[in-house]
Parts: sequence; structure tokens; C-alpha cells
Amino acid sequence: MSQAAGAPTRSRARPGGRDPAALLGPSVRPLRERKPPWFRVPAAGGQEYRRLHRLIAGESLHTVCQEAACPNIGECWERGTATFMILGDTCTRRCGFCNVKTGKPTWKDPLEPVRVARAVAQMGLRHAVITSVDRDDLPDKGAGAFAAVIEQLRRQAPACQVEVLTPDFQGQEMPLAKVIAARPDVFNHNVEVVPRLYPLARRGSRFERSCRVLALAKELGGSEVVTKSGLMVGLGESHEEVVDALALLRQAHVEVLTIGQYLRPSERHLPVVRYWHPDEFAALQRDAYALGFRHVAAGPLVRSSYYAETHLRERPRQL
Ligand code: SF4
Repeated sequence: MSQAAGAPTRSRARPGGRDPAALLGPSVRPLRERKPPWFRVPAAGGQEYRRLHRLIAGESLHTVCQEAACPNIGECWERGTATFMILGDTCTRRCGFCNVKTGKPTWKDPLEPVRVARAVAQMGLRHAVITSVDRDDLPDKGAGAFAAVIEQLRRQAPACQVEVLTPDFQGQEMPLAKVIAARPDVFNHNVEVVPRLYPLARRGSRFERSCRVLALAKELGGSEVVTKSGLMVGLGESHEEVVDALALLRQAHVEVLTIGQYLRPSERHLPVVRYWHPDEFAALQRDAYALGFRHVAAGPLVRSSYYAETHLRERPRQL
């Protein structure tokens, strides 16, 4: 994501003063090397991309596509899909991989849900993904805004499937219950990395807590709400470590899974240890299906909202 001018620029490459080499190992990829060929994507800027850009700017909305500097932005926006980020552009946490601005949020905009829904309706989306920065500063952790967006989407874009990609609400049950009561089609909460890497990559979060959030979401939503999670590889984890993490997600009854490659947004973020080969993603996908996930998207450029409208389909036949 592009950091706004004047935004905090503290490095996340040494979270809490920790030496990343202690957890990631001494050999990491240099920031400015040529990436493997499977990361080549067409440049953004087509007609539909420009239309969306105007629409989103005109409604004063934020997208995670821009804020996270997502490599798929040209393709997704040209297809008319985008992931909206509500509750401002400033996050109260400071994950080592994330490009979203961090600090003390001031954004408070009761009309944001109306504008998000209007933009979705104008875009004619069949599946909208709504996410947010972490708002640990708010009494309801931002849950009310998620519920309001779902409600507005049901009114303004009734044919559109709604996926919410939420923070962990610090593990509190009431904010989660509020979101699930609004009945999104998909409840998504990303665990992001394997448990061992949490102290480095996700300070302030806990893998087990995220699993509890996902399990409770399933319990509250039942068959009406599909649960989904995702993680990134490339920070030195092994295939076995990832599969162990996936087994924990299955224990939490997660149904849909995404796995993609971590890409370092800037030198202030954690370094990439290794680029996983597409064949390794295919192996992870097979193992994930063997664990019982109903849909698995795995690949270098997969992000949790990439082709999200297809994630509600059952496992492809050829796998
Ligand atoms: S993958 Fe998700 S975040 Fe990236 S451009 Fe597509 S919709 Fe936006």
C-alpha cells in the first residue's frame, strides 16, 4: 500500500527490536532482486481500471488493493472487482508484513457503509469483499461498521454476495456475534502466518485466538455462513509447518482456504526468505483438500480476495 505523505515510517523489519535472523534464518532474499517469472503481471491502467479508480476516489473510499500494493490490482480492477477497506486507512496494529499505515486512527464516518454499498451497486459486483484496518481503539472493535455495511449491501445491491474479512476483535465474542448476526455469506479471518512466526510477523495477535474466532463464527453462523481463512508463505516456514497450521484451521471448522506468497512491500518490512514454486503450492493445495477444506486456492499470486467469487464453489473435479 502506498504510505500517505507524513505517515509513520517506523521500520517493521525489526519488530520490537527483535533480530529477524533469529527466526527467519540468516539467508533472506534481497529487496531489489528480479522476482521469479511467475510474478510477472500485466501493468495496471486499462479503461475499467480507470473507471474504478474514479469511482472509488469519488466516494472517498479506501481499498486494500491500493493500500496493500496488491500485485493483482490491474487484473482485478479490469475485471471489475475490488476489496473495500472500511474504518479508515490507519491500523492500530503493526504486523511485520503489512503495508497499511499504522498509528492512532481518527477516521469516524457513519456514512461510509452507505457509500461502500453505493459503489458496489454501481460496479455491479456479484461478490463484494469488505475488510478493515484493526480498530482496537473502538469499544466494539469496528464490528458495528461491518454489520452496517452488510445491511446496506443487502439494501442497495441485493443480488451481491457479501464476504467480510475481519480482524480478530481481540477475541471478544460480542463484536463477532454482531457481525455474524448480520449474516454475511462468507466470514473470513486470515491467520496470515504459521504459529511459530507470530512473535515476529503478527505481534499483538495469537494464532490460537484467531482459530477460536473462526470456530465461534461457524458455531454462530451455522450453514448460513461459510468460514474462510488464509495465510502467506515465504517467511521460512516448512511444508510440514504449513500443513500443521492447516490442520488447526480444520479443527476450527474453516471451510475455505487461500495460500499465497508473501512479497515484501518495502525495506521497512520483513524480508522474503524464499519464493515457493507453483508446484509447491499445488502440493499444499492437495494436502489441504486431504484435510477436508471445501475450496482451496493456492498459488504465488493468490490473495484472500483474488477471484473470491469462485471460492464458494466446491473442489474442482481434477484435483
Ligand atoms: S487480489 Fe484482492 S486485494 Fe488484490 S487487487 Fe484483487 S481484490 Fe484487490
